[in-house]
Amino acid sequence: MPRRHLAQTPARTQREPMTTATAEAMADGSGVTGVLITRLLHTVLLAWLFGSAPVYGAPPLADVHVHYKWSQKEVTAAQQAIRILRDNDIALAVVIGTPAEYALELARLAPQTIIPIWSPYREPADWSRWPYDRKVLERARTALAGGEYRGIGELHLIGGFTPDWRTPVISGLLELAHQYRVPLLLHTELSNTGYVIELCSAYPEVRILWAHAGAILSATQVREVMATCPNVSAELSARDPWRFINNPITASDGNLKPAWRSLIETYPDRFMVGSDPVWPVEQLDSWDQADTGWQEYRRFIDFHRNWLAQLRPELAEQIRLGNARRLFAAPSQ
Ligand SMILES: [Zn+2]
Repeated sequence: MPRRHLAQTPARTQREPMTTATAEAMADGSGVTGVLITRLLHTVLLAWLFGSAPVYGAPPLADVHVHYKWSQKEVTAAQQAIRILRDNDIALAVVIGTPAEYALELARLAPQTIIPIWSPYREPADWSRWPYDRKVLERARTALAGGEYRGIGELHLIGGFTPDWRTPVISGLLELAHQYRVPLLLHTELSNTGYVIELCSAYPEVRILWAHAGAILSATQVREVMATCPNVSAELSARDPWRFINNPITASDGNLKPAWRSLIETYPDRFMVGSDPVWPVEQLDSWDQADTGWQEYRRFIDFHRNWLAQLRPELAEQIRLGNARRLFAAPSQ
């Protein structure tokens, strides 16, 4: 993975909007060769002057659960979001737009980094209404046929609101994921594993990325799902001390809990990490105020970097980057 941050130009001010071409060049490190060389020489000179190796960023990380919502765009412009990703050494970011097109907006600024996936939500009520809206299937098919979206989600199936997965919209989206060979990001928040196991068993060819590893389930319950359905990968976003506070994967000292460590070691190629930058915590339900999740971004990523550092390096690399690269590889790769 190239050290992209070396190609950064100095931070711009708000009054100096970036052109799309500049943003793309910055995002991909493909242009601004002169700036790159100057920065490189500068870094080498500093290292020589101070007798130390150049300081590089943290290891590249794949964030597989990123939102870019209208309530976030109010406080975080697209260019700023891309800069936050770069500042945190994010090599790949799976972005859910609300509305879906917002993910494409980020992808155009940093096509090598952003993986846009298609979300059915356009307005607050869609969050709980989508499984009953037949037009969702039509919209999903059109979006996936366009070729720009590389996944479906995040789909929320929570507690008392959860309809049967055999209903036309849910099963239809699973079939579309199969047809277009894209992963489906599924958020379930149910106290037992029965629903998920039935669903993932019924669609063994659909690659399901399980948001927050079931959100409120124990490591033992998650193990049951992973053992039954080889098509399920799990991501660990929001299993931190601030969001799913009763079900974090770490103890109060920040160490990975033994049951989670053992589970991850059993399935080293099926776990990933994500930021899920939604803030304040209850933001998902309120919708009527600005969401400052992007301003908290570093906190979420550093949480993962901290426990990943406790794993053996090869395992940490798989969870940090390798597994996500494989799951979201372009069809031609
Ligand atoms: Zn989410």
